[in-house]
Amino acid sequence: MISRRAKSIDTSGIRRVFNLGAKLENPINLSIGQPDFDAWEPLREAAKAAIDSQKNGYTVTQGIEPLREKLRQKYGLQAGTGDFEQDVFVTCGVSGALTLAYMAMCDPGDEVLIPDPFFCIYRDVLSLINAVPAYYNCYPDFRLRVEEVERAITPKTRAILVNSPSNPTGVSLMQSELDAVIDLARAKDLWLIYDEIYDIFNYDAPHADARNKYEKTLIINGFSKSFGVPGWRLGFAVGPNVLLREMMKIQQYTFVCAPSIAQYAALDGFDIDFAPKVNEYKKKRDFIYSALSENFEVEKPTGAFYIFPKAPGGNASAFVEKCIQNNLLVIPAGNVFSQQDTHFRISFAAPMEKLEQGVEVLNRLVRS
Ligand code: PMP
Repeated sequence: MISRRAKSIDTSGIRRVFNLGAKLENPINLSIGQPDFDAWEPLREAAKAAIDSQKNGYTVTQGIEPLREKLRQKYGLQAGTGDFEQDVFVTCGVSGALTLAYMAMCDPGDEVLIPDPFFCIYRDVLSLINAVPAYYNCYPDFRLRVEEVERAITPKTRAILVNSPSNPTGVSLMQSELDAVIDLARAKDLWLIYDEIYDIFNYDAPHADARNKYEKTLIINGFSKSFGVPGWRLGFAVGPNVLLREMMKIQQYTFVCAPSIAQYAALDGFDIDFAPKVNEYKKKRDFIYSALSENFEVEKPTGAFYIFPKAPGGNASAFVEKCIQNNLLVIPAGNVFSQQDTHFRISFAAPMEKLEQGVEVLNRLVRS
């Protein structure tokens, strides 16, 4: 009665953490993949104003023109109509953009190369459309090595997906790494999907930029993290018309349009100065890295708000179970973020006092 498609994905890894966590009274919750600040004030006001001014109907599927226009400016797009001229349209989050992209690019059995470790939907949405995830290995330092990507290419490969800064590792691509993988995509005539949802959260170097390099590039980005509005379900896709047209067609019959209120409200977010928030997160990054690096094998995150240490003994699920017994919620890699279960993800998008408590538990457990 239930499709093989539905059964092909398994959310048990995260669910186990949630179920165990639900029993805790006041957990130290470092498992959450969203910023710990709320929507910025001007956005909250603008959303209320959008409702009151009756912006509550459907919008055109591609998104309201003023928002597209702001995004065109941000990305330096001319909005021509040629097949390989670049434009932008508004999606239901980056999750929505990715789903549409996969559906537009892949037939059943086609492969998309994704990093390992990966953000779980990269793998699972492929399974949902009967396409196949293939992996390029980024262990042990979570860097992209273009030879690893090249080695994973087969005649069925349709696209290479890259993500920077990375969820779950917090590692950012260097411009040279991104350029090398773009060159590879061009040489092999593959789509290049670039998920840059954490683009403003880069702490040590400028964000690696994929614009204007290769015509078969699709950039996916959104407002969940920077605007502090993950519940608004607002994202966008920048790419060639030949692809966007197909994605929009699919959006029209599935998501229909991104939430109207969110689209209108987002117009007021483009002048926000993110620097103070990004600085706060940088300090949290510094704190958690220096607090853990003595006892854990861990890479220093350069972006996003995650750190991805190796579990003592290399068994992340077992270690996370101990953490949860000690009131600390973090997520093991196995089943969720990787094909292997050696590491676990900590989100440092949390109040400083919770980070201090979390670090105390982790360092106590690793010593015992
Ligand atoms: N990509 C990455 C790397 C993410 O971490 C997330 C959210 N956790 C998403 C995409 C999905 O974001 P959205 O809310 O825009 O669907």
